[in-house]
Amino acid sequence: MTGNEIRQAYLDFFKDKGHLIMPSAPLIPQDDPSILWINAGMAPFKPYFDGRKTAPRNRIATSQKCIRTNDIENVGKTVRHHTFFEMLGNFSFGDYFKEEAISWAWEFVTEVLKLPEERLWITIYQNDDEAFQIWHNKIGLSEDRIIRMGKKDNFWEIGTGPCGPCSEIHYDRGEEYGTGDEDVIGGEGDRFLEIWNLVFTQYDKSEDGEYLPLPNKNIDTGMGLERVASILQDCESNYETDLLKPMIEYIAKDTGINYTRDEDTITAFRVIADHIRGITMAVFDGALPSNEGRGYVIRRILRRAVRYAGKLGYQEPFLYRMVPVVIDTLAAGYPELSVKEEHISRIVKAEEERFLQTLDQGLSIIQEMLGKLKASNQNTLSGKDAFKLYDTYGFPLDLTKDILEEADFSIDEDEFKKEMEKQRERARSAREDIGFSGIGNEILYSKLKKDLSGTNFVGYGDLKNEAEIL
Ligand code: ATP
Ligand code: MG
Ligand code: MG
Ligand code: MG
Repeated sequence: MTGNEIRQAYLDFFKDKGHLIMPSAPLIPQDDPSILWINAGMAPFKPYFDGRKTAPRNRIATSQKCIRTNDIENVGKTVRHHTFFEMLGNFSFGDYFKEEAISWAWEFVTEVLKLPEERLWITIYQNDDEAFQIWHNKIGLSEDRIIRMGKKDNFWEIGTGPCGPCSEIHYDRGEEYGTGDEDVIGGEGDRFLEIWNLVFTQYDKSEDGEYLPLPNKNIDTGMGLERVASILQDCESNYETDLLKPMIEYIAKDTGINYTRDEDTITAFRVIADHIRGITMAVFDGALPSNEGRGYVIRRILRRAVRYAGKLGYQEPFLYRMVPVVIDTLAAGYPELSVKEEHISRIVKAEEERFLQTLDQGLSIIQEMLGKLKASNQNTLSGKDAFKLYDTYGFPLDLTKDILEEADFSIDEDEFKKEMEKQRERARSAREDIGFSGIGNEILYSKLKKDLSGTNFVGYGDLKNEAEIL
């Protein structure tokens, strides 16, 4: 099955089960300042879950565009994490509950996707005997296939309010994908692939930490489209599926480099393919690169991609040429994409040009810094140096970290944050000095430039702490 066919099969299946099929919400959250991006299928439905609004139907299914900033650094390192991905989800707002959610999930994976039962493993929350009974007695799974896990893995909550246990479906890709300590369910390895998370929202956590039964129990599920495609298409990773392969092929053709030449090449191809996809979709939904918040996420992703492109020999803007390739892979799900092709390419190209102006210089400065550290037998880059790279050469912290990791160095992140804070202070007092409101921006900028001897004055939010939803 192609990615598009899987998406359609999922939506058709849940339509048959009485669900209203809704289009994906935009990646930029509407009326939700708690997250920078929609990062799960349920995120646009929070008002339905907590009762602020009434859902148009008490059963809804979607294929939701998601961006997860907490996974940026995973991209290229695991076979299964993206910045942008699509989450298939079915939701019940006070309607059906555990029994239907589990039975339908099982029916979908075994009868529609036809995944072999012997490859499937289930996790449940340790105390969730109800889920155990359903998996064991109703579905007929043997006890050893149902693994009880702790709160960290199988209980969903953010602060107070609606929360509950979850049950996940994992797919065993076989011993050839690894037999190490990390190749266990929920581990870091690539053997067991978590494909679907079923969240049973049955409690309301009070201010004093009590779990009270929720009068209207909800269901919230999420399944990664790219991961499912990688299984059905028997791919080594998500990147060989029809959803991402055209990007890999484009890079191979354009560079003349063989994708599987070595580990570093594979990583570079994957990072570029993922990142240009994420940037394309983010800009499509109206975000623009900038120095703060959402815009800074795009900037970070793009700069990381530009550096990996440099490793493949690119010294000129190149990512923008891949925008049409990305659009081709997603046009079936999002037909409006092609209308914005030119706009997206233009934004990407301008941003590439901007960063390429300082990239080479920044990279040689890093080498110099590392040379000095090596000479004095140290392996931690100071926060001040990392800040200089950020401030003068436009290197986001995670880009610097990436480079350091490759050379087995670490970074003093606390000191970096302190430097960042100092800069914010300077910017603030500069603003106060000249009275922000009354004076034109030109004067403000020239004063800031003098004070800061750099051009960036805007904050670097701790974006990685953005809450994970599912
Ligand atoms: P993992 O443990 O692999 O990081 P997760 O537990 O963080 O996944 P959930 O929050 O449960 O993921 O999201 C539901 C589903 O969405 C996952 O089971 C997976 O199929 C998919 N998914 C989650 N994060 C990503 C990602 N970064 N890229 C692609 N698919 C993802
Ligand atoms: Mg995760
Ligand atoms: Mg997980
Ligand atoms: Mg999960």
